[in-house]
Amino acid sequence: MKEIILVKYGEMALKGLNKRSFEDMLTKNIKRRLKKLGKFTYASAQSTFYITPEDEDIDIDEVEEKIGKIFGIAAYCRVCVCEKDFADIAEKSVEYLSETLSAAKTFKVTAKRADKAFPMKSPEICAELGGILLEKFPDLSVDVNDPEVTVTVEIRDTNAYVHAENIKGAGGLPVGSSGKAMLLLSGGIDSPVAAYMMAKRGVRISAIHFVSPPYTSDRARLKVETLCEKLTDYCGGIAFFCVPFTEIQEAIRDNCPEEFFTIIMRRLMMEIAQRISAKEECLALITGESVAQVASQTMQAMVCTDAVCRIPVFRPLAGLDKTEIIEIARKIDTFETSILPYEDCCTVFTPRHPKVRPRPEDVEKAQSSFDFEPLIEKAVENTELKTFTYGG
Ligand code: ATP
Ligand code: MG
Repeated sequence: MKEIILVKYGEMALKGLNKRSFEDMLTKNIKRRLKKLGKFTYASAQSTFYITPEDEDIDIDEVEEKIGKIFGIAAYCRVCVCEKDFADIAEKSVEYLSETLSAAKTFKVTAKRADKAFPMKSPEICAELGGILLEKFPDLSVDVNDPEVTVTVEIRDTNAYVHAENIKGAGGLPVGSSGKAMLLLSGGIDSPVAAYMMAKRGVRISAIHFVSPPYTSDRARLKVETLCEKLTDYCGGIAFFCVPFTEIQEAIRDNCPEEFFTIIMRRLMMEIAQRISAKEECLALITGESVAQVASQTMQAMVCTDAVCRIPVFRPLAGLDKTEIIEIARKIDTFETSILPYEDCCTVFTPRHPKVRPRPEDVEKAQSSFDFEPLIEKAVENTELKTFTYGG
């Protein structure tokens, strides 16, 4: 029996004017994600996208798993391909749905007849097929109001399709449809989740990571690269910028008041991130901060970091609890990597008594005791780029 996947477009179907370009982008994203799995043909009709595997050895479970992670898809289903002939539809339905229907107590049949030339009308298809299934699966009974299983028959242009489930897709908008933003990516739990949240809104992700060797190790950097790789499942390709930050951190340590170390460091991170954003056409910054999660994430501290920002800073986790963030991290499979115990540049030279509620003018003054500009320029210049493509 031949199985294909039908994809239903999501929220973008509502967005009148942009509909066409969203659909094109989603199509492109789907093709890119499935490329490694074999040869497929694609077709689109009546706001449904048809994915037909063309190689014998394509693993349809794997296709399904990939499809489930593509933003912009509201729902999808695996369907059995039938001839546009009722006898064939009935025969294949019995076989294809046998496992599902054997395990169920109640069902109903619905039919969608896009091809009006098909000789049977929808109610007739439902009644006939329902009768046949009742006969073949004697434990079943019909429940039109709240059935365990809904068998759907779709009569379309070239074929008929039968399926018994609609799987909820990843939702959101196709990655790329909202433009690009720069994620400040640490090795922690939060920032990879922030990437997922913004990618869901159609934002293509570039990532920037600050390293301070020898205070931070190669292993710490590799961990962040592993996170990037994992994120491509949801985000698609990611341009990863690695910034040498040692000299700047040492300059902060040697020249600024200790209680402001962290906040000044974060302002300099933002400064470098937005300079690289400008070159990369990223329209906003993204961080994994959550209000009051730690001392450096108070609203007052955010006021002080945002004072140096010339583009919007998205903090999609601002209102989430740690447990909620961890739940998402597990779902997107970044959690186990994130908890590997390697150091981050944020944890070197941490002040003993950080200012929890810094005032912008005090931070400004503390930072002005040293001219960071030459070091900022040098760090930007020596930033390394590595590109992570979907599927490695
Ligand atoms: P995370 O779990 O994302 O590391 P966190 O709770 O550890 O977050 P902080 O260490 O205060 O919080 O970092 C806050 C945010 O700053 C991070 O979510 C991330 O966006 C950014 N950040 C921290 N360290 C780095 C780094 N080395 N490179 C790039 N961005 C960083
Ligand atoms: Mg961290």
